[in-house]
Amino acid sequence: MKIFGIFGDPIEHSLSPAMQSSAFRALGLDACYHAFRIPPGRLEDAILGASAMDFGGLNLTVPLKEKALEIDALQPDELALAIGAVNTISFGQNQRMTGHNTDGTGALLALEKAGTVVKGSKVLLMGAGGAARAIAYTLMQEGAEISISNRNIRRAQELAAFVGGLGFGLEELEKLVPQADIIINATTVGMKDEDGRLFDGRLLHSRQAVFDIIYNRQTELLLDARAAGALAIDGVMMLVYQGAKALEIWTGKKAPVAVMEKAVREGLKDVLAAEEGHA
Ligand code: NAP
Repeated sequence: MKIFGIFGDPIEHSLSPAMQSSAFRALGLDACYHAFRIPPGRLEDAILGASAMDFGGLNLTVPLKEKALEIDALQPDELALAIGAVNTISFGQNQRMTGHNTDGTGALLALEKAGTVVKGSKVLLMGAGGAARAIAYTLMQEGAEISISNRNIRRAQELAAFVGGLGFGLEELEKLVPQADIIINATTVGMKDEDGRLFDGRLLHSRQAVFDIIYNRQTELLLDARAAGALAIDGVMMLVYQGAKALEIWTGKKAPVAVMEKAVREGLKDVLAAEEGHA
């Protein structure tokens, strides 16, 4: 049996084990997938250990994605190097380990499968952290015109310079939102009930697509988008497609996306029920 896993810290609420295990079952593979809590200081040991134990593949999540680039034994591919983060590791012959990044592809596929045309669109990306960087780079390659708005304006300007776009602070959102074709939230704002909004939802209109990459709840941004008649896309399919791409890298097989989506949506219901139980 091949072992796969995800490393992160914290990791208890990861939906990847349910999602990837369901895919392995559907494909009839003799494989299992587990979550491991690995603090950043133990990442190198843990990856070398997984290689020694002949793991089939790994995912990395917060706070390890950028840290992986510091590990000499891990060779990032061109995309992971450009993005500056690794979320998937494959193990090849002679202990060769390659770092990949599937977050940007996950976001692009989520947008496209929802019916959005990215090429030539004016994209307003809120956030300049790890996920924003992967999305900005991938959408730039796809031919989008990108503006980036972030709380820390310097980070917005740096990321914008990297992808050939423009960077702004959050106070410019009032001006930027009405002009955009696609609005993406890649900040953490909206993960918690009490987070509220980054801008007044009445600025949205029905010819826009609004993509919130948060997947643990329906955010105020998505509610505002639906109220405005815009296309509202949540983060579930990005999670599913980044996992599907990782599975395809490891196995060379086509990922059973519908099965993986079902596992994630069921896992989310369990997380919500557990949270309500604690409330
Ligand atoms: P990160 O690197 O820590 O970046 C966090 C971003 O949020 C930064 O731009 C930060 O702005 C901004 N931010 C944090 N608190 C804020 C506040 N109070 N007001 C305004 N902006 C604030 O995190 P990440 O890894 O990119 O993840 C970002 C989000 O994407 C998370 O919700 C994560 O769950 C989600 N995500 C989803 C998927 C998926 O598959 N659907 C994949 C990856 C991530 P500053 O630069 O000013 O600090």
